[in-house]
Amino acid sequence: MNSPKLEVKCSVDCCDYWKDSCCNASALEVNPMTGKTPHTSDDTACTTFKPNK
Ligand code: SF4
Repeated sequence: MNSPKLEVKCSVDCCDYWKDSCCNASALEVNPMTGKTPHTSDDTACTTFKPNK
């Protein structure tokens, strides 16, 4: 079975996976913000984020 492919637009330009307004990570994990039960997208966060150097 083929894995789904998704183009992820991202504006976090200080992330190591960011390039040209898109995410270039091979997989992406998104979770609720710490201590939150999500009700809106503001309550979620990208766990794959890695600060660039
Ligand atoms: S890993 Fe997350 S923060 Fe980093 S470019 Fe991808 S979507 Fe954006």
